[in-house]
Amino acid sequence: MQKQEFLSRWIEIIKRSSAAMVYKQNFVNAVLRAVRSCSTRHTYDTAWARAVVDEVAGQNIAPDKGEIAIDLKSTARKMAGYYWDQTAYFGLRQGPNPMRQPRLLREIEALLREYCRKGSLSSPTPFREAVLSPRLNEMLDQVVDTSLEIIKGEIIPRFQRNGQEKEPFINYLMGDNVLYIPQNAALAIAENRLLLVEAVYYRWAQLLEMYNTSPRLNKKVRIIDTEDLRDRPLNRYEKYLDMENPGRLCFYCGQPVDGGPPAIDHVLPWSYLCSDDVWNLVYAHQGCRPGEYGRVLPQFFMARLEKRNSALMDQLAAYVEKDMVAGALKDAINHGIVRKYWTLCQG
Ligand SMILES: [Zn+2]
Repeated sequence: MQKQEFLSRWIEIIKRSSAAMVYKQNFVNAVLRAVRSCSTRHTYDTAWARAVVDEVAGQNIAPDKGEIAIDLKSTARKMAGYYWDQTAYFGLRQGPNPMRQPRLLREIEALLREYCRKGSLSSPTPFREAVLSPRLNEMLDQVVDTSLEIIKGEIIPRFQRNGQEKEPFINYLMGDNVLYIPQNAALAIAENRLLLVEAVYYRWAQLLEMYNTSPRLNKKVRIIDTEDLRDRPLNRYEKYLDMENPGRLCFYCGQPVDGGPPAIDHVLPWSYLCSDDVWNLVYAHQGCRPGEYGRVLPQFFMARLEKRNSALMDQLAAYVEKDMVAGALKDAINHGIVRKYWTLCQG
């Protein structure tokens, strides 16, 4: 009798946990479906999905809780932060019309313009490190309110529609500032965090590909996670640059770069290419580069760079098959990469 009771209790537990597993799998599938069939008029859906994953993963999901509350205002702020970073670092377009970006982006751009006017920046500040004056904070509050309005009025209803197969997969009370999801849904998000983040970035990069001409969008979309996407220190290029420029003369003013290690500059903005390539790297004085951070330089600098590249190639000609950097330089020259990218990054 006792044994039977023990057994049936076990069966009950197994049934419940396998039902939970099925539920979680279905929930993850619904989220993936909603991300895949998101709107293509902007990147709001992917940005919000990323924010929700972050929001849920940051919570302590106690086993006895029936429902988990997702604070929508907090996801709205996260979205604003993502757009801040992607705009400040790369100036990415988040909608199909270059002349009219989605509403939230227009507000972020206005906020960033105001922020840059105050600080005269040499390089972008990530959202989490930005120090805002009371007036700028007011502007940010306005942006977060816009974001919240869009989440409540557009994004969640679209998620509900696109994600569901037969039954609704999220229940949201229209107008509410909190979204309640079952504990198992929250667990599903937390347990599949990596998968969901990758799926969201993949979709987001696909959308950006539709709106932007710049390379490495898949890498750029991840600026959210890392303050600095730069590969490795640039000094590994010194041995190449020294071959053509042993006196280490500044690319811009022609004077020797002495006193400490020379700065290595990306002639075409790093913010456009998002990579380090020898054909684009030169010695330069700190601050000698004309214009502001991320600005595209006039054409005659491209002619100078191309001349430098062919002189460097003369030195490296014997190594193109053995050395990756030499090979990449040869390839860049063969394809007129400097001009091509220079033309593209004007946009
Ligand atoms: Zn100089």
